[in-house]
Amino acid sequence: MARRKKLYEGKAKILYEGPEPGTLVQYFKDDATAFNAEKRATIEGKGVLNNRLSEFFMTGLGNIGVPTHFIKRLNMREQLIRQVEIIPLEVIVRNFAAGSMAKRLGLEEGTPLPRPIIEFSYKDDALGDPLVPEEYIIAFGWASQQDLDDIVALALRVNDFMAGVMFAVGIKLVDFKIEIGRVWDNDYMRLILADEISPDSCRLWDIETGQKLDKDVFRRDLGSLTDAYTEVARRLGVLPTNVTHATKPTLIN
Ligand code: UDP
Repeated sequence: MARRKKLYEGKAKILYEGPEPGTLVQYFKDDATAFNAEKRATIEGKGVLNNRLSEFFMTGLGNIGVPTHFIKRLNMREQLIRQVEIIPLEVIVRNFAAGSMAKRLGLEEGTPLPRPIIEFSYKDDALGDPLVPEEYIIAFGWASQQDLDDIVALALRVNDFMAGVMFAVGIKLVDFKIEIGRVWDNDYMRLILADEISPDSCRLWDIETGQKLDKDVFRRDLGSLTDAYTEVARRLGVLPTNVTHATKPTLIN
């Protein structure tokens, strides 16, 4: 089959032209980056796991009525998605203090927040994705007040779903990031969940032990990232067989 036309390459994914207008193929790479790409590595199997996990979360969200870009998984590393116009914001939802919020406010990581807190960063790698208030978002025209109200409602639904799914397998959803896209049906614009939901963009802690099962394992050199993501996939029952360490044949006695 002729190779599809590459439209965009990001840090962890590549977007190719889709088979029909209005569709794209999203390819999950094994590349990991942190600290605005200052730290990089290739982690075998990460793309396969994130493809599966994002499929699992997006399908579940679709089943409870949250609109998403996900159409179907095509193979180990690729999924068919709806083409959207990405709103240039990282929408971050926090249930417990961690990462940049813990640092900014001098809070201990893991401190429960009084309610889920949503914040927005402007998606610009050169600027390091700065935190922006709603005032900036509206003034610069990245999204309207109505869009923001819809985004907050959508983010809270995603949070409740993800927190519940994770709790059921003994994992605490500390925080996560989502991205939102616009789609048009004739003249009618809708906002839908886009990009990915995976341990690359969530903080996931084991409820019993506090063990980190997300990208902080890579950011903070806490062990094997593949093992952590495999554990999340295993608990959720979405572990594909022979994926992560499938490079060598094993002798079966
Ligand atoms: N996050 C992300 N991409 C980013 C920044 C943050 O997926 O470019 C996720 C991150 O994995 C965490 C949440 O958003 O689950 C909150 O991240 P935070 O603002 O604490 O930043 P960090 O400490 O990761 O720099």
